[in-house]
Amino acid sequence: MTGKNYLIFGPPGAGKGTQAVKLAQLFSIPHISTGDMFRYHIKNNTPLGQKAKSFSDRGALVPDEVTIGMVKERLNRDDVKGGFLLDGFPRSVPQAEALDAILNELTISLVAVINVAVSDDEVRQRLSKRAEIEGRADDADPKVIQNRIDTYKNQSEPCLNYYRPHNIVQDIDGMGTIDQVFERIKLGLGSAD
Ligand code: AMP
Repeated sequence: MTGKNYLIFGPPGAGKGTQAVKLAQLFSIPHISTGDMFRYHIKNNTPLGQKAKSFSDRGALVPDEVTIGMVKERLNRDDVKGGFLLDGFPRSVPQAEALDAILNELTISLVAVINVAVSDDEVRQRLSKRAEIEGRADDADPKVIQNRIDTYKNQSEPCLNYYRPHNIVQDIDGMGTIDQVFERIKLGLGSAD
């Protein structure tokens, strides 16, 4: 069975979180952000948060044994039966393989991988701006920003080549205003007004 199961992908600072919130609202599906889940656990100092904090603080990936279990548990809840929008997962090819296994078990599949692309310079500018506005610890330090960009290039970007043969990747130009990018996404998914 194929539901409204989407994945949004892109470098840190591409604006995918903002787009994800809008898209999840449009489709009435839950927005599942692993970054938000980790921030929640870290803020509440849960055992999972304690495991995640040192990795997240330096812009590194939280280990798979923590991350994959957390996503599996989330995707097994009832509210994802009508679809979901995953944001921030997978971030490596082993995570993409793990997601396939989870989806297979649930006998569902992804309908689209929305790839929001922005230039490296734009990423840097947006991250330092976000640090001022939101005060996110992992946006403030240039070394941490660089680490997150490198992690994206080395570990996360290869996911796109994992999905391309399935012809589900929608490449979206992420430059421009929030509304412009949102219109492009809707057009790409065939759900423009
Ligand atoms: P984000 O808000 O998506 O940029 O995520 C913030 C931080 O949470 C990342 O820098 C990672 O440390 C951690 N994180 C989020 N998603 C994942 C994931 N799929 N795998 C490992 N770590 C993650």
